[in-house]
Amino acid sequence: MMVITEECINCAACIDECESNAIFEAGDDYIVNDESKPALSEDLTYIVPELCDDCKACVDVCAVDAIEEQ
Ligand code: SF4
Ligand code: SF4
Repeated sequence: MMVITEECINCAACIDECESNAIFEAGDDYIVNDESKPALSEDLTYIVPELCDDCKACVDVCAVDAIEEQ
């Protein structure tokens, strides 16, 4: 699965790149099946695993290489 590491500087570039809308700003609630859920991170931009299809489009736009597969 794709994760955002502590290298992230919260620039939001990856959010715009994700066609699956799987990336959210720190502290923002996310939405799955029309249900709002609490943020997975209060400090860093985050990826919701169940929304991510592992396309890796986000990896190339991250200037600090903060997105990796784990
Ligand atoms: S791998 Fe693809 S689907 Fe997953 S967060 Fe990155 S851009 Fe979005
Ligand atoms: S592009 Fe990289 S630095 Fe910018 S918000 Fe996404 S993970 Fe963080």
